[in-house]
Amino acid sequence: MEKLAGALFFLVLLFGALIVIFLVARELVTWYWKINDILSTLKSINRRLALLVNEASPEARPDRDAKTTDEPPSDGRVDSNEKSTEGDEVKQCRYCKEETPKDDDMCQVCGSYIG
Ligand SMILES: [Zn+2]
Repeated sequence: MEKLAGALFFLVLLFGALIVIFLVARELVTWYWKINDILSTLKSINRRLALLVNEASPEARPDRDAKTTDEPPSDGRVDSNEKSTEGDEVKQCRYCKEETPKDDDMCQVCGSYIG
C-alpha cells in the first residue's frame, strides 16, 4: 500500500511538472514566433478597418433604407427591431460597452464580433 501511495504521489508530481513545462514552452513559442504581437496587430487592423467602413458608407448601405414595410425581411429578427424607435439603431458592444450601428457584426471600437 505504501508503494502505491508513493507511485501515485510521483505521478501527480510528474503531471504537475509536465503542465509547468508545457506552459513555459508555450510562452517561449508565442514569444519566438511573435504570436502575441501578430494578434494585437491584427486586432488593431480589424478595429481600424471597421472604423473606415463605418465612416465611408453610412448612405452606401443599401439595405438600411431600401427595406420598406411592403416586403417582409428575410428573417423576422430585423423586422421586430426596425419597428421600434429610432434610438434603437445602435447596439452596445458587450466587451467595451461602446455603441455600434446595429447592422454591424463587429464593434467599431474594439473590433470584437458582436453579431
Ligand atoms: Zn467593443
